[in-house]
Amino acid sequence: MKNETTHFGYETVAEQEKARRVRGVFDSVANRYDVMNDLMSGGMHRLWKAFAIDRAGVREGSRVLDVAGGTGDLSLAFAKRVGKSGQVWLTDINNAMLARGRDRLMDKGYLLPVAQCDAEKLPFPDNWFDCVTVAFGLRNMTHKDGALAEMLRVLRPGGRLLVLEFSKVWAPLAPIYDFYSFQIIPRVGQLVTNDSDSYRYLSESIRMHPGQEELKAMMEQVGFERVEYFNLALGVVALHRGFKF
Ligand code: SAM
Repeated sequence: MKNETTHFGYETVAEQEKARRVRGVFDSVANRYDVMNDLMSGGMHRLWKAFAIDRAGVREGSRVLDVAGGTGDLSLAFAKRVGKSGQVWLTDINNAMLARGRDRLMDKGYLLPVAQCDAEKLPFPDNWFDCVTVAFGLRNMTHKDGALAEMLRVLRPGGRLLVLEFSKVWAPLAPIYDFYSFQIIPRVGQLVTNDSDSYRYLSESIRMHPGQEELKAMMEQVGFERVEYFNLALGVVALHRGFKF
């Protein structure tokens, strides 16, 4: 059997090794994940997510799939919109993240269906969801095109995919962004989670992730149509949206 390799941050590793290492990262940070998100982004991740929710077109009765949903920020917002006639699935490959997400949602009075699954093999029928979202998750997946193809499969014709992810920052901002990413973030990670390596991986994985145009092309290649993207915070993050027809 051919031993395929891939990236884990800046390292080249065997494909199976990447999944194991990504699991280690999220096992390690799950408990402090939400507080770290607020600290690292100065609360801006809330605005980025609000923008994605606004572009999702989710309404009463919609069926929504939150892939790599982690601690459930998007799922919660969608649950408030779809009402009793709709459906929001919170899914993630990582049990620690998912358990935290489920507990947070329950604390807020929402009991959503939850599934632990790999985005590359979604346990859902074809043509089922009105909207699929993946926020800050695609970067961690081994076969991004395979995962996107799965998301396309489970969308109904007319449905849309939203990919919220770190992207290529506006070039003049790159030096200061690099300083922040590689000098500050791992130190904050060390202080808050006692784990600087996971936050170094975060910064490296962002640099290895396809930029705005590359990801758009990947989505089109998989079969999404009318693909467009919106730069947020000067390209620190981009929201890509594509439709299935
Ligand atoms: N979507 C949440 C948010 O925006 O706060 C969580 C994002 S967190 C940075 C990335 C998540 O992707 C983690 O919970 C991780 O377990 C999940 N993940 C990584 N690889 C995955 C895969 N192959 N399939 C499903 N989830 C995956």
